[in-house]
Formats: sequence, structure tokens, C-alpha cells
Amino acid sequence: MQSHKPQVNVEFSKLTINETKLNEYAKKNKQILDKQIEKLPKKVIFCKKCVTSNQRPRTEFDKEGICSACRYAEIKFGGGIDWDKRGKELIQLLDKHRSKDGSWDVIVPSSHGKDSAMVTHQLKEKYGMHPLTVTWAPFIYTEVGFKNYVNMNHAGFDGLVAWPNGILHRKLARTCFELKGDPFEAFVYGQKAYPFRIAQKFKIPLIFYGENGEAEYGGIQKYVDKSHETPDDWEEEYYKGAGFEKVVQEGFKMGIFDEKEIKNNAFDFYRAPPLEEIKKLGLEMHWWSYYKTWIPQEHYYYAHKNTGLEAAESRHTGTYTKFANLDDAIIDAFHWLMAYIKLGWGRATREASSDIRCGHITREEGVALTHKYDHEFPQKYLETFLKYMSITEKYFWEVLDRYRSEKIWHKVNGKWKRKIHVSNNSVHGEEPTIE
Ligand SMILES: [Zn+2]
Repeated sequence: MQSHKPQVNVEFSKLTINETKLNEYAKKNKQILDKQIEKLPKKVIFCKKCVTSNQRPRTEFDKEGICSACRYAEIKFGGGIDWDKRGKELIQLLDKHRSKDGSWDVIVPSSHGKDSAMVTHQLKEKYGMHPLTVTWAPFIYTEVGFKNYVNMNHAGFDGLVAWPNGILHRKLARTCFELKGDPFEAFVYGQKAYPFRIAQKFKIPLIFYGENGEAEYGGIQKYVDKSHETPDDWEEEYYKGAGFEKVVQEGFKMGIFDEKEIKNNAFDFYRAPPLEEIKKLGLEMHWWSYYKTWIPQEHYYYAHKNTGLEAAESRHTGTYTKFANLDDAIIDAFHWLMAYIKLGWGRATREASSDIRCGHITREEGVALTHKYDHEFPQKYLETFLKYMSITEKYFWEVLDRYRSEKIWHKVNGKWKRKIHVSNNSVHGEEPTIE
């Protein structure tokens, strides 16, 4: 059976939280730490080529009303990149790092999903590397996600999985849900830091990621022509940005974490190693999408054939696809829901925009898919989510409503309605026809 249902049914105990501290914190603080929301443009516009709006953080729009990701796609598919030259650069890079004794020479942070499975398989079979996949376990493994993990190992790959302390991870997700409007952020901290830990431990100075999201999906433009990041680039992002440390600190003030929990070393998985050690190792983190044209749908077919990847038997909540982000159904669904509340776009928008850029669908089809699926509420996962977070449904809606963007939402007869929606006729959107 291939479905989004959990691999194992866990009974989540009630989290020990200091309710008095939590109430005091709510009275004194604004309770929102997401700084990106304030920086978003006041007027919502939609890209003329895809269905992305300017409410996607860090995405730039040019004078013609085209988003930076669509402009990058024009270059990528339109002959603006010398792929032969980049292929040679890849060979040079790998020649520099390839081990002679068969020891691991490259880390691929991987869920064993379509993209990282393709990258790992190519590194090993086409380029003669010795990859080690490093996985940060999803919040709650799905049956299909776990099966794909195991299938890939049996296709001949070494892998490590980190399972963080379940109680601390839940508390971190709860803090992120309340203060960042995104429970999924707890996963991202470990997903980023843990491969660094392993690189340091096994002295493997090369990490290969799949796509450079800032270029492919819209974001900081300085990354468009960059093949990799070095420790100097990480200073801001991982060491000064202090997203993780700040969240834990605030979580303690809120009474979610107690003193003992924040003092022990259990959070080490979430922290990148000291910068000096990373520099000494000469660690580089490269993106496959710099060297090869990135087309996610093709990665699915590739991984299906070569590493035993299977799609889910039904589509995901909030979108029309069934072969991406297969390993975690529950917290992931609430990540997209919260994006929809905060920014006005969900998973269908994200995937339709990418499919339009790759030429798989037209903009009209993308608009229709967005209207049909973006707003879908993950009702079937709500009960598990509430237990995982140790909150009541009433409290859930209170937190969610705290994050509703006034640019997107207004109340009509006591009910929340969208003010604008992407449409075929107007880049400024129109009243939604489907809610
Ligand atoms: Zn666009």
C-alpha cells in the first residue's frame, strides 16, 4: 500500500509546558518573529508568466511584471547557459575530491526522494564517486517515504539517518508554529546543520545539494550564477542570523522548554559545527542545478527506474502532484497551509509555477490548478497535528489567525475570504471564484 499514512502510529504524550509562563509571554510580546512578512510589498501582484505573486519572500519582479524565477528559466532553457562548459566544471570538481580507496568522498543530504536520489545515483554510477546520503528524519515518516528510503539503500547506497529527540523536536515545532507561523521550520534547522556535522565527523569536504532554490524558484539573485557556497557565505545565514538559537531562547521564555532541556547538548544536531573547524576542513557545498538542467519531473522517472522510487497512490493535500515531498505528510501539510495564510499562496502555486517554467503546463492550467487546490485544508491530518503540538483546536485557530495577511484576507459576514486571487485576465488578481 503506497499512501501518505504514517509508517508507524505513535501515541503522542501531552507535552509538559509551563502554562503560566506561556500566558505571561502572550501578554507581553508580539509573538511573531518572522521578519520576512514585514518586508513583503504592500500591493500584491502576480507574475505574467507563472502564478507566483510578489508575496514570495525575496522574489523580485522586473518592469514587465515577470518574476525572477521565470527570468532564470528563460536563461536556463533558452541557451543562456553553456551546459557543456558546466559539465566539464563538474568533472573537474569531482576529480579533485574522488577517493582512491573507496571511502566516502561526497555527502548528499537526502530524503531518498526523486531529486537527491537522482543526484546520488549519478554521482556514483556516472562519475565514480562514493556518496554517503545523510538524512534528517521527517517529523512522522509516511509509509511511502520510509519505503523509498529503504528501496534506495537496497539499490546499493550507504546512508545515515538522524532521529532527533522526539519530545524536544515537538517542542521546537510548537515554538516555530507559534513564533514563526511555520511548524516545519524545526525540521529545516536539523536538515541544514546535520550534514555539516557528518562532514566534520568523517572529514568529507564536499556536500552536494540538488537545486539552488533561490535561482530556481525565486530569491536572492546573487546566487544565480554561483555553483557553491563556502563557510564565508554561511556566516550570515548560519552563524549570525541565529534563527535557531533565538527560537530556543524564546521557547524557554514561553515555558515550552524548561531549563534542563535548553542546557543539555540535545540540540547539537541542529547546530552547525564551529565555523573554524568547517574552514579547516575546506568544506564546500555545491548545487547540482548549477551543473545540469534542473527538471524535477524527469528526476522522478529517473529515480523510479534506478533507485526504486515510488510515488504516493493519491495526490497530496493542497496540490495536484503525488511524487514530491513524500516522506512527511502531516507537518508538511501545515507548512503549506500556513504559507497560504501568511503569503496567500500554497503548494499548488509553488508546483504549478515550476511546471509552467518547465513547459509541462500552460499558465491558464496553472491558474485553474491554483484555484482548485491551494486552499484545501488538511482536515485529515488535523487531529494528529494537534496531538503532536499538544494544543487544542481553538488554540490552533488563534495562532493561525494571528498570521493572516491583511493584503490577502478580509472578513465577509463573519467568515474569512480571500480578497484577491491569481487570474487569467489580470495580473493584479480578482475576486476568487472558488473558495
Ligand atoms: Zn514567474
